[in-house]
Amino acid sequence: MREGLTVDEAVSEILAATVTLGAETIAVSDAAGRVLAEPILSTRRHPPADCSAMDGYAVRRADLKAASAENPISLPVVYEIPAGGHAERSLEAGEAARIFTGAPLPPGADAVVRQEDTRAGTGRVEILVEPDPREHVRSGGEDFEIGDQLIDRGAVLGSAHIGVLASIGRTVVAVHQRPTVAILSSGDELVEPDRPADSGQIVSSNSYTLAAACREIGARPNYLGIAGDRPDEIEERLRAGLRAEVIVSSAGVSVGDHDHMRSVLEKIGCRLRFWGVLIKPGYPLAFGVIEPTGTLVFGLPGNPVSAAVTFEEFVRPALRKMMGHRALYRPTIVARLTQKLTKRAGRLHFVRVSLELRNGEYSATPISNQSSGVLTSMIRGDGLAVFPAESESLAAGSEVDVQILNSSFFDQTERGY
Ligand code: AMP
Ligand code: MG
Repeated sequence: MREGLTVDEAVSEILAATVTLGAETIAVSDAAGRVLAEPILSTRRHPPADCSAMDGYAVRRADLKAASAENPISLPVVYEIPAGGHAERSLEAGEAARIFTGAPLPPGADAVVRQEDTRAGTGRVEILVEPDPREHVRSGGEDFEIGDQLIDRGAVLGSAHIGVLASIGRTVVAVHQRPTVAILSSGDELVEPDRPADSGQIVSSNSYTLAAACREIGARPNYLGIAGDRPDEIEERLRAGLRAEVIVSSAGVSVGDHDHMRSVLEKIGCRLRFWGVLIKPGYPLAFGVIEPTGTLVFGLPGNPVSAAVTFEEFVRPALRKMMGHRALYRPTIVARLTQKLTKRAGRLHFVRVSLELRNGEYSATPISNQSSGVLTSMIRGDGLAVFPAESESLAAGSEVDVQILNSSFFDQTERGY
């Protein structure tokens, strides 16, 4: 087992052991947010034929040379084509047909004149403009033809994809499966949130944080409860999670006398790939794979910020890879630090910062308490500024990469245009 990896090494090790899950077929109406596991080829043509984009009159341009408000040209209206209807016959020279938006253009017609550019009479219409070729005509197949590749495999389905699937008549679609994530908390001091806690106890929040983080990306959390600091208890709870694609535990993974997680993991068939990543918060992270099922096991540190940050940096990309995503990582921006930061060389620090946009530039202010026990710092912060491992100080005004954690960060209270 390797020890003390860099972020890059740890992420590479994790992703190398992570397999994208197979496909399942689900209703198109339930598929928003899922990753497409098949290419979508069009089985229909849209629009099915040339049709009108306006309420007005189907005409032949040759009849309307130099038509204008001063020089209106009067044509007989020989039939009407409602939306959903069909032309009775071809439009002959010197004729107009009443037509409505979405109705098919009659053979012989080569433009549509808007109702607003006409004067209706009894059985006739005066045309007040000379239309351009195919003006106000939507061409058959202009959106897609039969056989067109409409959506690539691997696309993340949004509402427009769902609409396109519906428009070719699809009711079901193949998407990547979502992993089940078994979540275990451990520690004799922990109590569930709905229980009274005395001063020696801590409410277990990690399982809630982690389950919510799983749900946020579409993975399926399965809570295994709290195991006390006894190997047999940890083993029993962990075994209940063996059918999951991923097990995420928190706490008990450090080097204390009561930290049994690593030895129990090995006992249940988990081959540990590494322990310890050169970061702060979150050094004591264990990662392994259960043989032969391939279940991934993440032993996260117990401190609430460490658990949340290590989930973000290491578990989340793996879950997204399983679900077929190509974009595994959170967005990052460049921001200017408002204060100087110092640390010892050796570990990469994830500094919780609040961000402000001024004159098109982001400024990043570190949250005052960076303790790994202060979970509210994750609420006050908009993201994690990356203080590189070998760097010892970052000057006020210098540029840092900031990973945006809050998925609604780019939403705006003002419309912005
Ligand atoms: P440990 O890794 O077991 O030494 O735990 C480190 C710290 O994290 C301790 O202060 C624990 O009380 C805290 N902690 C462990 N598990 C949880 C949890 N599920 N929820 C909140 N805090 C926790
Ligand atoms: Mg503990």
